[in-house]
Amino acid sequence: MRILVTNDDGILSPGLDSLVRVARRFGEVFVVAPDVERSGVSHAITLTEPLRAREMGPGCWALSGTPADCVFIGLNHLLPSRPDLVLAGVNRGPNLGFDVLYSGTVGGAMEGTIQGLPAVAFSLVSAGTFPFAWSEPVVDRIIRDVAAHSMPDGVMLNVNIPAPDVAPLRGFRLTRLGNRFYSSDVIHRTDPRGGEYLWIGGTRVTMESAPDADTGAIHEGFVSVTPVKPDLMAREAMPALARYDAMTMPPDSAASLEGNR
Ligand code: MN
Repeated sequence: MRILVTNDDGILSPGLDSLVRVARRFGEVFVVAPDVERSGVSHAITLTEPLRAREMGPGCWALSGTPADCVFIGLNHLLPSRPDLVLAGVNRGPNLGFDVLYSGTVGGAMEGTIQGLPAVAFSLVSAGTFPFAWSEPVVDRIIRDVAAHSMPDGVMLNVNIPAPDVAPLRGFRLTRLGNRFYSSDVIHRTDPRGGEYLWIGGTRVTMESAPDADTGAIHEGFVSVTPVKPDLMAREAMPALARYDAMTMPPDSAASLEGNR
């Protein structure tokens, strides 16, 4: 297998080293990762600045862009041929529930999905110490499974692994995204030169504890495996919003409709 590995914590993060170590057991590994931490950039791509790729070693590049940039540039320019699998992580911290909308780790994997490849985002959930070496057998188990079975079209896996300081490991669970809310605190401070700045806090988290939700499963000691996809379309809302399909302008309106039906 040929595997492309990226992350959002940056090229120097220990979680990336850990994922690369495991991925090498399955074949040839290429790394394209952000040159600095890019956590929270979601699926952003860089369109207004040049991207510079620095070769750090054979098959390993640090890119001055986002995780989605890394996968796009990796697949379409840096790699000698198309890989079979895209992996992102292992993230330093959880990507649970609504986190998947903000996560650069998920964004990188999702770019792989959009490019038609099976993809997995890995995150390690810990209260503090992040034992990446400890989580390697779990990462190995998931990659082994993904290599053996094909992934449904257009779907990627979001995997969260609870470290022993969260709960003793009990197994794997297929989950849905749970509800997870951050406190809405904004920190207002003054910098050393007298300028005011704001920093998004959100340090206190409340989350759903239902056992079938990713947020609940990890606290019971289960590796949470959630299928996610780039299609955000709310199909179930179509009947309730059907009126938009026949909406008209008032007769006395300045704007007129030329009769589009
Ligand atoms: Mn991160």
